[in-house]
Amino acid sequence: MIRIDGSKGEGGGQVLRSALALSMTTGQSFRIEKIRAGRKRPGLMRQHLTSVLAAREVCDGKVDGAEIGSTELTFHPGEIRGGDYKFAVGTAGGTGLVFQTIFPALLMADEPSTVKFEGGTHNPFCPPFDFLRDSFLRALKGANMHAEITLDRAGFYPAGGGAFSASIQPAAMDTPLDLTQRGDLIGVTGEARTANLPGGIAEREAKTMMAKLELDESAIAIRSVEASGPGNVLIMKVEFEALNEIYAGFGEHGTRAEKVAERVAKAIKRHLNSDAAVGPYLADQLLVPMALGAGGRFSMMRPSLHFETNVETIGQFLDVPIRYVEEQEGLWLVEVG
Ligand code: ATP
Repeated sequence: MIRIDGSKGEGGGQVLRSALALSMTTGQSFRIEKIRAGRKRPGLMRQHLTSVLAAREVCDGKVDGAEIGSTELTFHPGEIRGGDYKFAVGTAGGTGLVFQTIFPALLMADEPSTVKFEGGTHNPFCPPFDFLRDSFLRALKGANMHAEITLDRAGFYPAGGGAFSASIQPAAMDTPLDLTQRGDLIGVTGEARTANLPGGIAEREAKTMMAKLELDESAIAIRSVEASGPGNVLIMKVEFEALNEIYAGFGEHGTRAEKVAERVAKAIKRHLNSDAAVGPYLADQLLVPMALGAGGRFSMMRPSLHFETNVETIGQFLDVPIRYVEEQEGLWLVEVG
């Protein structure tokens, strides 16, 4: 039984989700204590509980401690089963994180799967739907890991009510990923979206972004989308030859639209001014699939605490070395396996 301290490193939900993904795919049971001890409200919230229950269903596992607020849990994986699934978070909690929990297991299933996810699709602190499709899954195509995802309805915080569908093909997972070089910049484009809010918010975000990054007016579309409640997201796609990075900014009470766009523009400039291929969020999210697959290499800006925590969690399940060294100032090379 692998014992995991949920308070280590980042001390958030990722420790649990990575442990679930690694347990399902390696067949090793684990016990985690101090779940999300680093957060204001520790223990399982709906999004985390949905990931636990999804993992249990997909691998016919057994779990003790799967309750809201629980800070301890034991998970015994069974056999992975592909097929048709539906998982509802029930709040605006991030569906993308539930997807990432079960994705590696379903790649190893005997048959293809279709999965419907309900809850939040565009939330701060979670990978937005666009990030999953255009950045995460786009990058993993290079490792021969495939899933098609389609957005059925956007779900913003706090109303939720969003949904997306995934179709996942079993994969040999025998191709190493190489994202050391990003290639030429193809372009920076984006969409400023609002749901049940004045369209002027999106227009101000687009205007600020165009000015900050010196983009043409045609680079950013302004869209009004359907959702259960109010919501606003600015999604920017930085497209390189080898991969895409999606940067998102979320409108919130008390933050001016211009400020939302300025923050996103700053993050994009930081990436463009470095030579790194992989952005800060993608870096931590690639580790589990790469370690379970054929490994590989990528360059990134600087290891985040999420990244380092994931390296540690992976080390508890797999005998796959993960090395990361600063090659030159602000440019790190990561080698998995
Ligand atoms: P909590 O922090 O409350 O425990 P959590 O379960 O969301 O919540 P974290 O451990 O913080 O867990 O993990 C969040 C994950 O979401 C990380 O993998 C991080 O890379 C990813 N993420 C956060 N924001 C973005 C974003 N804007 N784009 C892409 N990925 C993101």
